[in-house]
Amino acid sequence: MAVTSQKSSYLVLENFIGGDFVSCAKHLDSYDPSTGEVYCKVPDSGPEEVEAAVRAAKKAFPEWSSRSPEQRAQILNKLADLIEERLFEFAQAESRDQGKTVTFARNVDIPRSVYNFRFFASSVLHHTTDCSQMDHLGCLNYTIRCPVGVAGLISPWNLPLYLLTWKIAPAIATGNTVVAKPSEMTSVTAWMMCKLMQKAGVPPGVVNIVFGTGPRAGDALVGHPDVPLVSFTGSTLTAQRITERSAPHCKKLSLELGGKNPAIIFADADLDQCIETTVRSSFSNQGEICLCTSRIYVERSIYKTFLEKFVAAARKWKTGVPSDPSNNNGALISREHLEKVRNFVALAKSEGGTVHCGEGVDMLDLPAANVNGYFMPATVISGLSDSSTVMQEEIFGPVTCVSPFDTEDEAVAKGNGVRYGLAATVWSQDVGKVHRMARRLQAGLVWSNCWLVRDLNLPFGGMKNSGVGREGGKDSYHFFTEVKTITIKH
Ligand code: NAD
Repeated sequence: MAVTSQKSSYLVLENFIGGDFVSCAKHLDSYDPSTGEVYCKVPDSGPEEVEAAVRAAKKAFPEWSSRSPEQRAQILNKLADLIEERLFEFAQAESRDQGKTVTFARNVDIPRSVYNFRFFASSVLHHTTDCSQMDHLGCLNYTIRCPVGVAGLISPWNLPLYLLTWKIAPAIATGNTVVAKPSEMTSVTAWMMCKLMQKAGVPPGVVNIVFGTGPRAGDALVGHPDVPLVSFTGSTLTAQRITERSAPHCKKLSLELGGKNPAIIFADADLDQCIETTVRSSFSNQGEICLCTSRIYVERSIYKTFLEKFVAAARKWKTGVPSDPSNNNGALISREHLEKVRNFVALAKSEGGTVHCGEGVDMLDLPAANVNGYFMPATVISGLSDSSTVMQEEIFGPVTCVSPFDTEDEAVAKGNGVRYGLAATVWSQDVGKVHRMARRLQAGLVWSNCWLVRDLNLPFGGMKNSGVGREGGKDSYHFFTEVKTITIKH
């Protein structure tokens, strides 16, 4: 088995199909965001490679799907153990590939990837189906759930292994086989995980990973007639294309998309805790988390105090070399993305905004080796109207905007006044107000007095342009299986 190759000092990845590493004729450059240099070559797969992977997944399906949930769970647990044993190695690789700090990868991405396997290994053992009590025409009615077949899984670059395993784990736990396509910008940890499949006991063809771009590899996967289900995490624009491509085949779709998440801060909030958490919710992972706060609405009576304290705290959020544990943020994913985020700040200025700290205001002190990296400091903007582009569009970088409100109704209207509906945060010590706000906000997830606390048993997903469907515990189980109603006359 050709597992690894180190040609001319680049890391060269290979597809993982039917339990083997298979080289690809063409490759794409993948950059280290902290230096701006190419360090890895990623297969530029197309329909041919996808076809081979789907064929391998189809072949593996009958045997894998006939195993008991307990048997599959054992393998998921073993895979989790193997990744955990190499936690630091995976964290370093994720940091180099994505630009995030090693600390973040070590504390968030990789432990959560491990937990995804452990969680679904356990949760798949605890679901029950329905049986009707009604003896209708002498018949017994009950339901069973069956795996769907070959699952097509497409993931983005911001939390590479975390989001890929969030899909692979429930898909295979429930008896499907998969063809996954990670983002072409962050493929390394997925490839490293493939090296552990055999040792974990994953049979050949159960997990296939095809690397490459969305328009070639991703499109071929979505359009493949033998892939009846697609779970996608990424941008709203790509989701529209995927919906169109899969429509002729009536595929089962789960779409986890972008956000423009509000934090609504009332005057009775615990301000110290709120500021500490809201800095984290705005800037963690360079602001490249779909759940990051990008609009902060503050009750007018504390607006001035909040803004002052928040800007001071944001200035302390350190950006720099990802391997330095004193840094909170590393580099953004790519030069293009950095330019896009910077352009939003320029646009904010032209839309009448004030930039209090960050881009264009504060200089970063970077070592010579990193001056071409894609770094950008935590940026706070105020003074924008709710209809401005910067307040409406997802930026997906270390930029957040602060604005005042007067009444609860106004806060709801502002929070809901965008096309997205992924997450919202409410800060208040008034329980009644928190419940009212949570009910009225159009968001798939509402956190109050905290952020990013996730119980994987509960649904995850967005409303409006933030997604279709939910995943997590029972919801993942439902998505990755088909329910069948059985009626037997006795
Ligand atoms: P993207 O849509 O550009 O790419 C996501 C994935 O889709 C990549 O693997 C890409 O190669 C693939 N792809 C692109 N075009 C395709 C096509 N035509 N057919 C099939 N696949 C295609 O998104 P991105 O820039 O990688 O990720 C950032 C976006 O993801 C942001 O909008 C962010 O909010 C969103 N996101 C959402 C969640 C969530 O859970 N809701 C989580 C993380 C990121």
